[in-house]
Amino acid sequence: MRSLYIDGAWTDSASEEGLEVLDPATEQVIDTVPAGSAKDVDSAVEAAAAAFPAWSRRPYGQRVTHLAKALELFDERAEDIAALLTRDMGAPAGFSRKVQAGLPQMMFRTYIDLVEEHGERYFTGERVDNSLVVHEAVGVVGAITPWNYPLHQIVLKVVPALLAGNTVVLKPTEIAPLGAYALTEIFDEAGLPAGVFNLVSGTGPVVGEAIAAHPKVDMVSFTGSTRAGTRVSQVAAETVKRVALELGGKSPNLVLPDADLSQAVKRGVADVMRNTGQSCNALTRMFVQRDSYDEAVELAAASAEKYAPGDPTDGSTRMGPLVSAAQLEKVRSYIELAGTEGARVVTGGAEPVEGLGSGYYVRPTILADVRNDMRVAQEEIFGPVLALIPYDSVEEAVELANDTVYGLNAAVWSGDSDEGLAVARRLRAGQVEVNGGAMNPRVPFGGYKRSGNGREWGLPGLEEFCEVKAVQM
Ligand code: NAD
Repeated sequence: MRSLYIDGAWTDSASEEGLEVLDPATEQVIDTVPAGSAKDVDSAVEAAAAAFPAWSRRPYGQRVTHLAKALELFDERAEDIAALLTRDMGAPAGFSRKVQAGLPQMMFRTYIDLVEEHGERYFTGERVDNSLVVHEAVGVVGAITPWNYPLHQIVLKVVPALLAGNTVVLKPTEIAPLGAYALTEIFDEAGLPAGVFNLVSGTGPVVGEAIAAHPKVDMVSFTGSTRAGTRVSQVAAETVKRVALELGGKSPNLVLPDADLSQAVKRGVADVMRNTGQSCNALTRMFVQRDSYDEAVELAAASAEKYAPGDPTDGSTRMGPLVSAAQLEKVRSYIELAGTEGARVVTGGAEPVEGLGSGYYVRPTILADVRNDMRVAQEEIFGPVLALIPYDSVEEAVELANDTVYGLNAAVWSGDSDEGLAVARRLRAGQVEVNGGAMNPRVPFGGYKRSGNGREWGLPGLEEFCEVKAVQM
């Protein structure tokens, strides 16, 4: 069994229980991590609180040097980390290298660049008339993260938090925790001072809630389901700590009547199939004007059929398994529900994938004749399932797109980019892509409504972990 990492040392958990980590392609146990306890959280928080004064008072350039050393080690190990993440959560090898490991590498680098560019203004301070406005660390940050982009979600919290001078207690997902262990080894080797970064593995209700409740944790940064995020907020409210939430989504993709239909549908399907549909920002509701609807359904089915699920370690595989048996069960039951609700399964379905002996594989599925008020259009399925919804007017499409409790991401396709932008402005979501505009690590990412209240990426992602002080002189 692995250990916890507390106060600069690998430490046995106060609980003797372990949590098995399964490879979702083979269903075999590949590792065991401690099921940490509230006592372990207490030790980690005490270590982080003790390390805070010295770490937060260092000139920001020294913190950059430490983190840059860690990034160097990450870069050297990126291939191994990608392979580890494939076994941990099932992402195909190429995707794992490019995204599961490559994206956190890029985000790590971007935060270091941003602090080098803006550190003086943020941390030394900026004059406003007779005042100096200074950004300072919040204190001890508890970071709680999910399994779908396990290392990316960790880097988005831990790296900006540490650069801003906070100390951290991380509780990674219990389902795919191995990336967290790889990063902890890197921080240890990079020589971060004891207590600055701590790792407590374990379950949400035990370790997660102990972090949210702890009086010496000043902030909780949470990424995961809206259900667990709500619970974290409730527990954290007792001690009035800052809570940043990055939650679920059911994001709309509006294909306007003048769009290049084939391009829009193909790219829209690819977006949903990415990471076997396990992306918080997946564009899972595609709105197509009624005149083009049947053609779009056919195009979507043909595209989806190209994503044959298979062994994620095979370089040619485009779609790996889902992360767990529970996730497979959930996705299948939503596909069955679609039929009950009156939607049509055009391709895919809830039946097992043929020819694969083990693994949590599901069929890439296209649902047609979906109404926006069906549960399959309102609830996050978190699998490779795309719902196509017809509309009559753009006005109606915008209204339906916004008719959701979520607001994380959205997309618009239009032959006229001004019209695309005009529609993008009307969508209640934290990110909108127009005609497939590429992601940008220097701009904020986060949700409206029940998709959360925080922002990660870019300068807002650094500010998230800062207090702001005004000194009048
Ligand atoms: P989850 O909510 O089940 O778990 C996320 C984390 O919260 C895990 O570490 C888990 O152990 C912990 N947790 C669970 N219950 C808890 C509790 N009562 N108190 C404290 N912590 C608790 O989510 P998941 O299944 O791991 O991840 C998938 C979800 O994450 C999806 O809803 C997805 O949309 C969301 N997500 C959002 C973003 C974003 O940036 N908005 C990014 C990735 C994933």
